Amino acid sequence: MAYDFDLYVIGAGSGGVRAARFAAGFGAKVAVAESRYLGGTCVNVGCVPKKLLVYGAHFAEDFEQASGFGWSLDEAQFDWPTLIANKDREINRLNGIYRNLLVNSGVTLHEGHAKIVDPHQVEINGERFTAKNILIATGGWPQIPEIPGHEHAISSNQAFFLKELPKRVLVVGGGYIAVEFAGIFHGLGAKTTLLYRGELFLRGFDGSVRKHLQEELTKRGMDLQFNTDIERIDKQADGSLNVTLKDGRQLEADCVFYATGRRPMLDNLGLENTGVKLDKKGFVEVDELYQTAEPSILALGDVIGRVQLTPVALAEGMAVARRLFKPEQYRPVDYKMIPTAVFSLPNIGTVGLTEEEAREAGHEVQIFESRFRPMKLTLTECQERTLMKLVVDARTDKVLGCHMVGPEAGEIVQGLAIALKAGATKRDFDETIGVHPTAAEEFVTMRTPVAG
Ligand code: FAD
Ligand code: NDP
Repeated sequence: MAYDFDLYVIGAGSGGVRAARFAAGFGAKVAVAESRYLGGTCVNVGCVPKKLLVYGAHFAEDFEQASGFGWSLDEAQFDWPTLIANKDREINRLNGIYRNLLVNSGVTLHEGHAKIVDPHQVEINGERFTAKNILIATGGWPQIPEIPGHEHAISSNQAFFLKELPKRVLVVGGGYIAVEFAGIFHGLGAKTTLLYRGELFLRGFDGSVRKHLQEELTKRGMDLQFNTDIERIDKQADGSLNVTLKDGRQLEADCVFYATGRRPMLDNLGLENTGVKLDKKGFVEVDELYQTAEPSILALGDVIGRVQLTPVALAEGMAVARRLFKPEQYRPVDYKMIPTAVFSLPNIGTVGLTEEEAREAGHEVQIFESRFRPMKLTLTECQERTLMKLVVDARTDKVLGCHMVGPEAGEIVQGLAIALKAGATKRDFDETIGVHPTAAEEFVTMRTPVAG
């Protein structure tokens, strides 16, 4: 049967755009549907605007530290609407770039909500199109627990568009988004509390990293409240929010920001018209080739709930395009050694196994750790310390994991990730000449393992 398209992609986010562009480049007839914003979460309400706000928040420290280097500034003033307007302008520019990327690679763009009507057919804006394959790349959506008063809380989707900077912010959650936005609000001058239900935030990250960040954020005056959760939120007559905690305590805030994970975006997608199955957590179930239970339908990115990171969605998009239209170039995505950064202030950068994971996997580990005050701060009052940590297999000498908390941790760990992927040993690290004077050179000069 002749189809309108070889591939119909639903969602022009990180994964969908990558799959669509490369599939079209390999000669396939491709359409992509987008209901909201070109570039998806990352470009519009994720990585990009978040990083711009993190840069904005960092200036507070820069201004403070400048005096140690002889600069004197009048009292610094911050204007939230200016930052948001400039951010919006940049995102608009990126939306245009995404449009051009798609159109110039020969992809047909359909703007509207797409619904699957049968395993080979999609409906959008009242029209139906047939396709040999359909790719679900619809991403995720913030998930807020339905406690009484949850309608008064915001998620990251709204945080990027607040009209003014709230004076008192309560951030709920202990994952990437909570830690990053707590840093943004605190850095920009809001009185910020981070509230997490567990013992210590960033579950799954290396224990030294979690503890170090806790100490650094406390030093900066952020209010960290662990082992607690919200019972209810009540709006007061003056518009402020009264928050009752499960332990009975009450807090006042102008904004309650929930960052408690993301669900797959499957709203009105028409999955009931297909044989697509969901996993226990509600994400689209796929095999190692991104194939769903319905043979003509594939899925990738956040909607499959594996690793919710843009570079992973990009790699999956590339793999799908190659598998369908350039099989001789197909290579599976390698999910080991995925480097990642948390753009908290200070940043976290990490790749490979945590000390806890390495021990649990049965490795006999050697740990190398260094904590120091970065050179840039020696002329300032700032007492921030950087942490660097290597997890090494004592038997093979292989470096299993690198972890850092400190300025530019993400930038530094990206390079180290190549070394770890190539199987670098501690001896390779030791024999690498440092770049002096940098913080990064500490990764190749740690000689004495920590006891224990
Ligand atoms: P998305 O980018 O979410 O794209 C899905 C698209 O599908 C959306 O544009 C949506 O509008 C569209 N869509 C949904 N349903 C339909 C439909 N029925 N019809 C038509 N279109 C539809 N990752 C990093 O690597 N680094 C970071 O620093 C980082 N920061 C983040 C910060 C925040 C606040 C958030 C929320 C996420 C962040 N992420 C980060 C994660 C990253 O944004 C996601 O992993 C990535 O965007 C996933 O890409 P995707 O293609 O799966 O989905
Ligand atoms: P995460 O899954 O990272 O964290 C969710 C947090 O919310 C956890 O601390 C979790 O606690 C807590 N939580 C979950 N449910 C509840 C609940 N019902 N009540 C109270 N607390 C709850 O999700 P995020 O929303 O922070 O981010 C989503 C994903 O987006 C990330 O996992 C990451 O993949 C991606 N991302 C990446 C970034 C980057 O690369 N820099 C930045 C931002 C997002 P517990 O640990 O106890 O389960």
